[in-house]
Amino acid sequence: RAKAEGGGLCRIFDPEMGARVRERRILEHDLRFAVERGQFHLVYQPQTAIETGEVIGFEVLLRWHHPERGNVPPDRFIQIAEETGSIEAVGEWVLRTACREAASWTQPLRIAVNVSAVQIHSARLSGLVREILVETGLAPERLELEITETALIRDFDRALASLHLLKALGVRIAMDDFGTGYSSLSNLRAFPFDKIKIDRSFIMSVDSNDQAAAIVRAVMGLGRGLALPVLAEGVETQGELAFLMNEGCQEAQGYLMGKPALISHFAHVVDEETTAEDGKRRKSAA
Ligand code: C2E
Ligand code: MG
Ligand code: MG
Ligand code: MG
Repeated sequence: RAKAEGGGLCRIFDPEMGARVRERRILEHDLRFAVERGQFHLVYQPQTAIETGEVIGFEVLLRWHHPERGNVPPDRFIQIAEETGSIEAVGEWVLRTACREAASWTQPLRIAVNVSAVQIHSARLSGLVREILVETGLAPERLELEITETALIRDFDRALASLHLLKALGVRIAMDDFGTGYSSLSNLRAFPFDKIKIDRSFIMSVDSNDQAAAIVRAVMGLGRGLALPVLAEGVETQGELAFLMNEGCQEAQGYLMGKPALISHFAHVVDEETTAEDGKRRKSAA
């Protein structure tokens, strides 16, 4: 049986590679027009305070609906957009659309927007963010930019300068996917982060796996030492949430609290009127 499979693999290997190259060329090309053709939309995933369970903000996640290919996941197209330069226009569209959306809410909740390495290293980013904040009227402290470590190592000095310009505008910076990149610890010290997001791979089965638990505890210790709040990504079970609460983790995001969805799905959260019921809830939480 192995032999038959091996033979099969050999025969299909070349055409498959050709198909992948063709596919990539098509995506490369189509990405250049996707913004103007209205093929992108945003979904929002709640981020909650673990202690109270309240939604404190949303991460904004990009979705591409390709006319022939259907939904193409970000893990498939973001890197291509970075390598071909399309990310500049795409990233600008994401920032502007998300800020405009958040500025329209009655609740001053936060939005967390993913920013790619290419954007961080572009001299335009802080100017663009300032322009969008002015244009939309969004309070800067409501905007959080999520940056992965790999985005910072390409050109340390430029990345650092870029983050300081952004901080000067009053926006917040979160380290995304913490623990999966390089030299995490020196990055944490060097860059002006406001939050650590522990990668989903460490949260998975944290309540039943001793190694995962040890790593999450260590990150919690780091957060305490550096006075940075920690958000756990990819929380899927009550057991994981209970573990995180017990370890003093401040924030959580994951399918347990809510999957990414159109903002209309969260209308009652972002446009919630303050009622007597809320007053009661706040008092009992305090
Ligand atoms: P990320 O920033 O780490 O985003 C979290 C990813 O985990 C999202 O995948 C989200 O849907 C998924 N997720 C959240 N909770 C759970 C959970 O409980 N279980 C599981 N299995 N998954 C969960 P998504 O939307 O496919 O995005 C993947 C990555 O693509 C993001 O990782 C981010 O790096 C990138 N990305 C998404 N939108 C943008 C964008 O607008 N700009 C840039 N530059 N990158 C983006
Ligand atoms: Mg993110
Ligand atoms: Mg992440
Ligand atoms: Mg990620």
